[in-house]
Amino acid sequence: MATAVLALQGAFAEHEARLAELGEKSFELRDASDLLRPFDRLVLPGGESTVQGKLLRELGMLCPIRERICDGMPVLGTCAGLILLARRLEALDDKHVPRLETLDVTVERNSYGRQLGSFHATEEVSGVGADVPMTFIRAPKITHTGKGVDILARVGSSPVAVRQGAQLGVAFHPELDDDLRMHRLFLSL
Ligand code: GLN
Repeated sequence: MATAVLALQGAFAEHEARLAELGEKSFELRDASDLLRPFDRLVLPGGESTVQGKLLRELGMLCPIRERICDGMPVLGTCAGLILLARRLEALDDKHVPRLETLDVTVERNSYGRQLGSFHATEEVSGVGADVPMTFIRAPKITHTGKGVDILARVGSSPVAVRQGAQLGVAFHPELDDDLRMHRLFLSL
């Protein structure tokens, strides 16, 4: 089948390029009618989670996508995509923004402060290997993980890649580096 890439806003084209490099067919989800096309996995790209969440609700895509994820469809959420997946947010003023809320983690948006707004790290990812390049851009911090959530990687003490069943959430942008291993992990779910 194919991977659907949410293409309302943000870094979706880069994900499509990485998937193509791995020989995976993908197409863009731009409105609710695209949800009728056959797909068996989903990528939620980085960008601005508040914009993406509001558009998902306005376009009638939030509930159908949430249902597919709850039914076990593999999903990769990167940065803003992780925020959309997160069940809880730290900041009270963000809580009215529509999100999918399927992944049992708490995140704090834009948590690395101005000076560290963007940075690069290289860390081991469990099940993926050593020296995985990690580009962070105004990234969220995962501040709590629920019982069924595996932490696959940390930078310092903070989890930056987590998995719960077929949901993979990462705080960084694997689509912006040449390394294809995170996408390969996603395609293996
Ligand atoms: N700061 C963005 C948000 O809150 C996420 C940044 C990103 O996806 N690179 O949605």
